[in-house]
Amino acid sequence: AQKRYAGLRDLPATATCGTTVSLLMNAGLMADLPSLEGSGAEGVGLFRTELQFLIRTRVPRRSELAALYRRVMDNARGKPVIFRTLDIGSDKVLPYMKRIDEPNPAMGWRAIRVGLEKRGVLQMQLQALIRAAEGRDLHVMFPFIADCDEYHESRAMLLAQLEREAALGHAPPTSVRIGAMLETPSLAFAPDAFFRECDFISIGGNDLKQFFFAADRENERVRKRYDTLSVPFLNLVEMIVRRCAALGVPLSFCGEDAGRPVEAAVMAALGLTTLSMRPASIGPVKALLRRTDLRALRALIDDKRESGATNLRPAVTRFLAEG
Ligand code: PEP
Ligand code: MG
Repeated sequence: AQKRYAGLRDLPATATCGTTVSLLMNAGLMADLPSLEGSGAEGVGLFRTELQFLIRTRVPRRSELAALYRRVMDNARGKPVIFRTLDIGSDKVLPYMKRIDEPNPAMGWRAIRVGLEKRGVLQMQLQALIRAAEGRDLHVMFPFIADCDEYHESRAMLLAQLEREAALGHAPPTSVRIGAMLETPSLAFAPDAFFRECDFISIGGNDLKQFFFAADRENERVRKRYDTLSVPFLNLVEMIVRRCAALGVPLSFCGEDAGRPVEAAVMAALGLTTLSMRPASIGPVKALLRRTDLRALRALIDDKRESGATNLRPAVTRFLAEG
């Protein structure tokens, strides 16, 4: 499949109406990095750091992590890498972590909730990231922020680690951009002050959809009932796009839907200009975007919504097939 799209690799994802969408890739292991070159991705929009913790039998040391993050950035050769801090708990259980019995792990003690309580591990990870980024740009994203105070606290922790590392004599990153993953509906309704505190926001569509529809993403039986192209979900995405645009916060979408061409085109039509996906999806998504008039697609979406459609998939699929 990569071969089929090789000719597109160095071309931008510019739609026929002139809008250009940035296509980034998701990664989590060193082995993913060569795809950055092969796919033509503009950077890593989501680096899932927990994978490095999951393949070990003990908590990695700070020096090991710093060396690893340094290698990731080296291999990205100047393209941006957005590191997401540990997102453990829920479906990702560390072999060396005491498993706590929770009735609802996906809504339980996971991600930033662990990081803000067991602060040592998150602090150590942030220190490793800062050391790895010495003399380069650092992008850090906090997962599963459900309340703006959690973001505020996480950001403060990173800023404190930056000061600590500087005091210890480590050369600082050239720039630091700090962002939040928007993965729960609550955050879409956060006060403006939250958005203003974010250097960027990324929609974690897998979790956002799970919590929006109250349908377990791991449970095929219920998951399949709810469509990303349903009007309520798209209305939520559109609201997030509007709020970020109004407050000047760069926004991306990094859930699996970003890598599905039809869904990606709809997200782009709603105003998302950065999508992050598995590397193999970059070619197909780019191919579709390059032959789509996003403005016309947007008009169709608005039309259908006004006339009372509840799901846009049939109309959008027809439109894209005709184009
Ligand atoms: C998401 O929830 O959409 C996401 C990108 O994070 P993960 O799939 O790792 O939970
Ligand atoms: Mg998630």
